[in-house]
Amino acid sequence: MQVDHAGDMQIFYPGDTGYDDERSGFQTGLRHEPQVIFAVENAQDVEEAVRYAETHGHEYAIQATGHGLTTTTTGVLISTRRMNGVEIDPAARTAKAEAGAVWQQVIDKAAPHGLAPLSGDASDVGVVGYTLGGGYSVLAREFGFASDRVRGTEKVGDVITALEFELVEVDQVHAGEMFFDAGHAEAVFEAFHTWDLPDHVTPTLTTLGEVVRVTYASTKPFDIDHLRVAPRLSEELSAKPFAEAAGKPLPPHTYQGDNVLLNDLPLDALHGVRKMAANSSVPIFLGIIPLGGALKTEATHLLKLISPRLDVEKQHAEVFDVVRSFVVGRSRNFRYAVR
Ligand SMILES: Cc1cc2nc3c(=O)[nH]c(=O)nc-3n(C[C@H](O)[C@H](O)[C@H](O)COP(=O)(O)OP(=O)(O)OC[C@H]3O[C@@H](n4cnc5c(N)ncnc54)[C@H](O)[C@@H]3O)c2cc1C
Repeated sequence: MQVDHAGDMQIFYPGDTGYDDERSGFQTGLRHEPQVIFAVENAQDVEEAVRYAETHGHEYAIQATGHGLTTTTTGVLISTRRMNGVEIDPAARTAKAEAGAVWQQVIDKAAPHGLAPLSGDASDVGVVGYTLGGGYSVLAREFGFASDRVRGTEKVGDVITALEFELVEVDQVHAGEMFFDAGHAEAVFEAFHTWDLPDHVTPTLTTLGEVVRVTYASTKPFDIDHLRVAPRLSEELSAKPFAEAAGKPLPPHTYQGDNVLLNDLPLDALHGVRKMAANSSVPIFLGIIPLGGALKTEATHLLKLISPRLDVEKQHAEVFDVVRSFVVGRSRNFRYAVR
């Protein structure tokens, strides 16, 4: 049924030029199959879309970038990518971002004021989707969750049309990464596990096929000597503008992933997940984020798995099974193409 509407908002139906582009996002493995797409530009457009869905008994889904696509809709898709205004209030040290804004826009506008948002390792992720899932920033252990900084939300139905949040006074950060050949994984995992980590340092440990990567960031200097347990393929740690630590966009691709929050991660369990992931019948990239510091949560670690293909729930479950007795929850972020 055609939408009866008088404004300028673009509306797409299956078969229309632009329909496929509008429903496509960062995740190329699956796409929404909506009957109608509302390409909203302001809160009134969102109201119209929500009213249409409710009046016609359709469910509606929201898509900004598609990074966090889990289940697809056959009802109404509210595409927020055009609704992406960002305003900074330097005196109040706050930002206000519209529904479809991405972190890079906030970073760019905040930096001239010596301010930064609590964004993560990919600057093209949507501000609202990320923050709704807590938001594990590259400075998470120093400043807490992005969601802790929310000052206000504007909503229409389930759609957040604007989010206001505090920025942190961060200009330069000490950040970098080390790469090792995966043949040294056991020694690197052990060093990472036994690292006497200062509360202000946020590290991650990741396997990426043939390599193991450790990243780290803090506003204060710190020592990484403890991690030099094997030859490095590359190593870097330097003071740099926050924007350079905030992660560059990746090209869109197909991926499936999930995570668990753990209340402990003993060394033998860490080695257990490493081996299970490495020996899986499908490629599994594993990521560990130690929590604590300013992150007020009962969980001590977040374990995330990601594979560059779909239909790998069974293989991921085999890895999660190794740490089953420590699982206390799951983050809404780091869930990709899973129900
Ligand atoms: C490469 C990559 C790097 C990432 N890095 C990090 C990281 O460092 N830290 C971290 O915490 N997370 C990270 N994530 C996870 C990311 O925060 C989530 O996937 C988040 O849901 C993405 O939001 P989005 O708007 O970009 O994606 P979308 O797929 O467009 O949206 C995801 C979901 O968010 C909800 N949503 C979006 N906009 C609105 C709105 N206006 N109102 C209500 N609900 C809305 C909807 O439920 C929607 O389905 C990363 C993801 C990827 C793919």
